[in-house]
Amino acid sequence: MPLGVYIHIPFCLKRCPYCSFFSVASLDRTLFTRYRDALIYEIEHFPTSVEIDTIYFGGGTPSIFPVEFLSDILSAVSTRFKLLPGAEITLEANPHTLDERSLRLLLSSGFNRISIGAQSFSDRVLSLLGRVHSADEAEESFLMAREAGFDNISLDIIYGIQAQTTDELLLTLDKLVSLSPEHISTYALTLEDGCVSGLCPASSEKSCGMYHRIVRCLVDAGYSHYEVSNFAREGFFSRHNLKYWNQEEYIGFGASASSYFSGRRWRNSASIENYIAGCPPVVDILSKEKIKDEFFLLRLRKTDGFSTNEFEQFFGEDIADFLAIPRIQELAGSGYLAFEDGRLFIPGEHLFVSDEIIVEVASSFFP
Ligand code: SF4
Repeated sequence: MPLGVYIHIPFCLKRCPYCSFFSVASLDRTLFTRYRDALIYEIEHFPTSVEIDTIYFGGGTPSIFPVEFLSDILSAVSTRFKLLPGAEITLEANPHTLDERSLRLLLSSGFNRISIGAQSFSDRVLSLLGRVHSADEAEESFLMAREAGFDNISLDIIYGIQAQTTDELLLTLDKLVSLSPEHISTYALTLEDGCVSGLCPASSEKSCGMYHRIVRCLVDAGYSHYEVSNFAREGFFSRHNLKYWNQEEYIGFGASASSYFSGRRWRNSASIENYIAGCPPVVDILSKEKIKDEFFLLRLRKTDGFSTNEFEQFFGEDIADFLAIPRIQELAGSGYLAFEDGRLFIPGEHLFVSDEIIVEVASSFFP
């Protein structure tokens, strides 16, 4: 099965107060050049050439990296690996960092999907989030990408902010539907330690209400709700992210990037200087229990869950025995799990609490 390649570009214009991704605020061209060279070195020295059919440039904000550098990195990947025709090649981008020239160059370099971090179409919400772009700039970036020729665009939005009003959410949903991107990701604001810089997550009840409004609005607009937080037009599911949710293998390059290849997992240094200096990655040793937990954790995030075949191949056990576990029967009896057409999944009305359901499922299977 072809693999996915992930490239981490750990630079942003400014750090957002709620962000947990590894990145630093920098526009230092010298540092960018050294980082590009280190990335290309890592790619060229990967020991095996395998078939790949997705490449994902994430961050950070990859769109603040010079387009020529992104193109150099993409060339290095397609030289080192067997890039299959029709591969999905995504660049994460932020409004404010795209222009017509860069979009045209990205397309001609081979990028065919762009994921824009719009986050909201309300200026007040963008300011609460500490974002540097405006709602108009988010819309302009989308229209510019469309005009340049991108026919696979994803927009990200954030909801579940304590000070966010229902009207502000509805304004964002209206704009999303009118722009009609091929893919939409929606994330509830979560913060480890309560509030930061005056930004607080909404109560679980408020977030749940917003989540269900989003689902209803996007499904009514013709999107498939295919993962807890993701929606797409038919044929535009994120092929790269589906690899993670299906526990398929991937190779990550760049500072802090993780890999899962040949049954091994490792993680690169989350220090840009250490990464450039060539510090070796840390090998992650996952217990069998953790890997089994992941089966439920990842696959039950998808709205179609997992099939009988997937379960039986992975665990080597009959799914009937699993379905007969009293706690699983209780969850199914209460509507938190459904088993239809040979697939086990969490019904849409309970996806907002999927994390809690998954913990229950995993702990009843491995008590
Ligand atoms: S721009 Fe994105 S990656 Fe950078 S700090 Fe903000 S949320 Fe994080």
